[in-house]
Amino acid sequence: MNTRTQEHDNAVIRIGFGYDIHKLVKGRPLYLGGVKIPFSKELLAHSDGDVLLHAICDSLLGAVGLGDIGQHFPNTDKKYKNISSLILLEKTFGLLKKSGYKIINVDTMLVAKEPKISPYIEKMKKEISKIIRTKNISIKATTNEEIGDIGKGKAICSYAVCLIEKNV
Ligand code: ZN
Repeated sequence: MNTRTQEHDNAVIRIGFGYDIHKLVKGRPLYLGGVKIPFSKELLAHSDGDVLLHAICDSLLGAVGLGDIGQHFPNTDKKYKNISSLILLEKTFGLLKKSGYKIINVDTMLVAKEPKISPYIEKMKKEISKIIRTKNISIKATTNEEIGDIGKGKAICSYAVCLIEKNV
C-alpha cells in the first residue's frame, strides 16, 4: 500500500450544503461575499444580511454536523446586530478548525436580479479565502430570469456546498 492510499484510508471526507435568502429593501449598504456593493437597496437582516456568507457558514456547519447559523448566532442576540458576516464566517471557520477539519473546496451560487455580480466575484473570493484559508472557492451568479420574487428583484438568495476533510 502506498502512502497516498494510506492517507486516503485515514481521511474522513464530508460534504455540506447551505442556503439563505433575505429581502431587498430601500437603504444601504449592500454586502455580498464580504464586499460592499454600490446599490440603492440593502438586504433586510439582523446582521449585515450577506446571504452568500450565510450560505457558506451553513454549509460548513452542516458538513461538520454542528447545526446551523441561527443556532450559533441567533438573531435575537443584540451582539450580532448589524455584525459583519465576515466575523460570523471567521467564527464558523474557528469551529470547523476546532473539530479538526480543513476545507477542500467551496462552491456557491448567488441568485440576484440586480446588481450585476460578476464585477465583484474576484474581490469576494479574496475576502472569503483570507478567512477560510483556501483559494478553492467558486462563486457563480444567475438572475432567475425574472421568475418569482428573486427574479423580480425582491430578494437575493444564495446556495453553497463545501467539502471538508479530516485525517483520523
Ligand atoms: Zn442570512
